[in-house]
Amino acid sequence: MSALILSGSTVAAAVRSEVAERVAALNERGQSVGLATVLVGDDPGSQIYVRSKHRAAEAAGIVSIDRRLPETASQAEVLATIAELNGDERVTGMIVQLPLPDGLDGGAAVEAVDPGKDADGLHPFNLGRLVLSRPAPLPATPSGIMRMLEYYGIETAGKAAVIVGRSFLVGRPLALLLGTKGVDATVIQAHSRTPDLAGVCREADILVTAAGRPNMFDAEYVKPGATVVDVGINRTEEGLVGDVDFDAVVDVAGAITPVPGGVGPMTIASLMVNTVALAEAKND
Ligand code: NAD
Repeated sequence: MSALILSGSTVAAAVRSEVAERVAALNERGQSVGLATVLVGDDPGSQIYVRSKHRAAEAAGIVSIDRRLPETASQAEVLATIAELNGDERVTGMIVQLPLPDGLDGGAAVEAVDPGKDADGLHPFNLGRLVLSRPAPLPATPSGIMRMLEYYGIETAGKAAVIVGRSFLVGRPLALLLGTKGVDATVIQAHSRTPDLAGVCREADILVTAAGRPNMFDAEYVKPGATVVDVGINRTEEGLVGDVDFDAVVDVAGAITPVPGGVGPMTIASLMVNTVALAEAKND
């Protein structure tokens, strides 16, 4: 039987309309919500991401501020731009588009963002709060995945979750969220040095692939009936593909996210959630 398709586009539309209502409520109280992006260089993929973030912001009534620096910008110039946006009253949330061009320190740039404006939820202060299970803006892709699992009623308690990938952007925070009290999955964090990866993945009731390897995960990696969440976005000659060989897995999995239209739209929607939540927190 073919798997249930977990449509990130559908869930994201619902989330974004909730955000629009919250923005409208703030506007009625005289407070505007502003999202600033900092894009350095002219990587085509990053330009597409930034454009879709602005489009989503504008659709939700969020004022968007688009700051661009040339590929040749120095670290000091990047940090000065971030400092200026930290001090700008119109900006309630900020995103530094990663990766930065070679030679620039993306980690230091993220650390320079005011944690109270950290729409990406990637500042060490906010990641630390996540570790402590304290309220914080959550990294957008992991929180989008959690929201999608919740929307489709995918059971997590007592389930085995295998996450392939250990980046600070996706794999690590997602492992924390899936293992947290109340969510209660038993989490295995797999990575490029995990032996018998296919065997480990076949143990998963929930398999999340965030390796950035086009079509790597075929039916051999998937337990029949498992939920498969494909985070990968890989640009290939055949176009945009995920980490999962969708056609090979769709008849084995119980539920699966497509690429595109799966995790990607949830990431953007979660950024909007963080942006409005930061503005609300500022008001309190
Ligand atoms: P990354 O390169 O920082 O991390 C990749 C991780 O995968 C590493 O931890 C590595 O150990 C693991 N890995 C790599 N090759 C492997 C292999 N052959 N076997 C097992 N593990 C392997 O990447 P990232 O930033 O976490 O992103 C991962 C993928 O997700 C990329 O394709 C990226 O474009 C995509 N992504 C998508 C979204 C979205 O919104 N859908 C958001 C962020 C990232």
